[in-house]
Formats: sequence, structure tokens, C-alpha cells
Amino acid sequence: MTITVIYDNRCEKPALQEGWGFSVLVDFEGRKILFDTGGYPKAFFSNIDKLGIRLDEVTHLLFSHRHWDHMAGFDEVLSKLRRGTQVILPRFFWRSPFKHRHLQFKTVKSFSEIDRNIFSISLKGGRMLYEQSLVLKTAQGTAIITGCAHPGIVNIIRATQEKLPGNVSFVMGGFHLLFTPGHVSAGIVEDFKELGVQKVAPCHCSGDHTIRQFQEAYTDRFFKIGTGSVIPLGS
Ligand SMILES: [Zn+2]
Ligand SMILES: [Zn+2]
Repeated sequence: MTITVIYDNRCEKPALQEGWGFSVLVDFEGRKILFDTGGYPKAFFSNIDKLGIRLDEVTHLLFSHRHWDHMAGFDEVLSKLRRGTQVILPRFFWRSPFKHRHLQFKTVKSFSEIDRNIFSISLKGGRMLYEQSLVLKTAQGTAIITGCAHPGIVNIIRATQEKLPGNVSFVMGGFHLLFTPGHVSAGIVEDFKELGVQKVAPCHCSGDHTIRQFQEAYTDRFFKIGTGSVIPLGS
């Protein structure tokens, strides 16, 4: 499994554009899963070009939630996917995808297997706001990728463990701890350890201080990432 960061507010490679938002491409067991599309369409399309990512090779597209920084270029992206591509949306997404008749749509209500070893978990993250996270069952354990983690990052991990018992090998994405006081985020890092999370890659809205706390606690099992990072995770 390889994860390429297409869009994040930090940038690793000068040729790529950073911006507030999140988007990754997950190469997993022969499938290419696009998770979110970032905030600004120009930056998203320029980055996928430079990273050599082709939208007509995407097999699954998930939007974590309806906030602008996760769904740039919605109609343009959908129009470029090949016939039959699965597009998975959370509840209360509010953007209608139905004019794109060449695609297959699904709305995830709570927990759902999308394809072999690919799952989505959807939780309430606010008033009329549902957010889905991407869950992959790998040989090392469960990998979880979140958009903004509005339902609470620890809640998402716990809910996933209830559905897929076993070890959590990797958690990545926006953890939404930007405005969380240091002593509270330190407790969340402890929760990760108690839950047995093995590797972490906090980014997007996780907050600089929280990212540092994860780095100190996880040392060589922490990934510092930004736009253009490629994370190889084994099969
Ligand atoms: Zn959000
Ligand atoms: Zn966000």
C-alpha cells in the first residue's frame, strides 16, 4: 500500500502547491482510491498532473464530508472518472452527483464494506454533518484515513475497532485538534497509545502543537507529511 498526499496545507515539494485542505491517493491491492480533493481546484489539478496521477485510473472516490476544503472541483473531478467508478458519499453531503450518470454512487450510513478490504465508517460530526473515514484491512492491521475528524479522532478509532477488532496499524489525516489546548491533545496522544495505534501521520487540521506531540511520542513511527509526500506502508 502506498499513500500519496495530493493536497495539504504543508508542502514537501516546491513544484507542488499547498493550500488549506486535504486529498490523498491510496494505492491498495491493485485499486486506486482517491480520498477528498482539497480546497482549490487549480492547485488540485496542477498537483495531480505533476504527481502523474490520472483520474481515469481511479477506482474509488470518497469524499469525507461536505466542507469546501475537501471537495475542490467536484463536478470536474467526477466528469473525468471512468465509467463505473464507485463514488462514496457521507450522509448530508448536499451536493448532488446525479448528473454524472457514468458513475456508481453510494451513501454510507454507518459502516460499510465498499470493496474487498476497503471500508468506510461514517459518524456524526456536528449538526447535520456526517463524516466518513476510509478504513483499510491490511496484513499489518487496520489503517484509518480521516478528512477533518469532526466526530472526534478517538471516537473514529474506537468505532472502527468495534467493527473490525484487531490492531490499528496506521492513522492518518486531519485530526481536528487545531484549537485544542496542549494538555487535552497530549491526552489524545495517550489515547492513541492505549488503543494500540502503531503508526501516525497527523496533518491538515491537526494543529502544529499536536503534530509535535505525536512526533515526540511516536518518534520513528511518526510520519511528517505534506503535499507530495509518499508513504509506503507495505501490503
Ligand atoms: Zn471540515
Ligand atoms: Zn478540513
